[in-house]
Amino acid sequence: MKNSVTYVLILMCVMMNLTPSSAQSNSKPKYVLAIHGGAGTILKKNMTDSLEKAYIAKLTESLQAGYDQIKQGKSSLDAIEAAIHVMEDSPLFNAGKGAVFTNQGKNELDAAIMDGSNLKAGAVAGVTNIKNPISAARAVMDKSEHVMMIGKGAEEFAQNNGIQIVDPSYFWTKQRWEGLQRALERDKDRAELDHDDKKAFLPPYKDEKFGTVGCVALDKQGNLAAGTSTGGMTNKKFGRVGDAPIIGAGTYANNATVAISCTGWGEFFIRSVAAFNVSAKMQYAKMGVAKASQEVIDEIGKLGGDGGMIAIDKNGEVAMPFNTEGMYRGTVTADGKITVEIYK
Ligand code: ASP
Repeated sequence: MKNSVTYVLILMCVMMNLTPSSAQSNSKPKYVLAIHGGAGTILKKNMTDSLEKAYIAKLTESLQAGYDQIKQGKSSLDAIEAAIHVMEDSPLFNAGKGAVFTNQGKNELDAAIMDGSNLKAGAVAGVTNIKNPISAARAVMDKSEHVMMIGKGAEEFAQNNGIQIVDPSYFWTKQRWEGLQRALERDKDRAELDHDDKKAFLPPYKDEKFGTVGCVALDKQGNLAAGTSTGGMTNKKFGRVGDAPIIGAGTYANNATVAISCTGWGEFFIRSVAAFNVSAKMQYAKMGVAKASQEVIDEIGKLGGDGGMIAIDKNGEVAMPFNTEGMYRGTVTADGKITVEIYK
């Protein structure tokens, strides 16, 4: 009986020109794009209705902007730039306009982009006057022979290549300024408690570091790409740079495996080589995207770090694991269906 059922199933698959496994994957939606707007202590009880609506609207707008590019047959890189611009231009996210403040009261932005079709990549770090750092990262990839540029040099390169420059005051927002004041207050409290002069190495406060943005995409040509943009962590000191602009840590894409963008406590993502680690688990240990990305987040958790990531593989499977209370995130399927989520 069991044999004959199996036989009928196989026959049906053959008649429909499907293998049993492709029959299974065809029943699932095939994704073309995923975004995140940061992971952290994001709890429904701390959210007002209007703020929640504002996040959902902006995440939806970002997904739609990216999807429009994919639909028109543009590259996954174009989709990433379009989706990330929407979030960089919004004060809601810790990237572009809404970037957090450094200890010295400045905004220092980082971004990276990677093309999975040829493993080309571009990144900028510690820039203070580039409106859309993701576009500067793309210019580094497309118009220079380098992968990463920092500070003044990156700003000069961006300006020479037609990237929009703004006065640093453009990045000032009340919400982020107050976030820095709270962090400075707590630094003072801790200084009183701590006399071993190692204060520079104290971990940052968990609740002041979410809102980085990222996007991963798979275009009609089958090319994967990933991009991440951030203001880093509130109260960062000494030119600190996190994982976002570091290829293989916060951002990675390879057509053979997966495209990844991370968010969270950057130091742990750098130490875990998080984004590349997912790709390596898929390539060498033959894991699926869900297991590989979850394992990396679990490993980061064991080290004491927190955060999340978005991943899309070459077959359009998406995974979005995180070990924080929430992560702003969303997906679009090939037929344009948008889904947005915030909490666990
Ligand atoms: N990963 C970013 C950084 O460490 C921050 C974040 O994603 O919230 O700079």
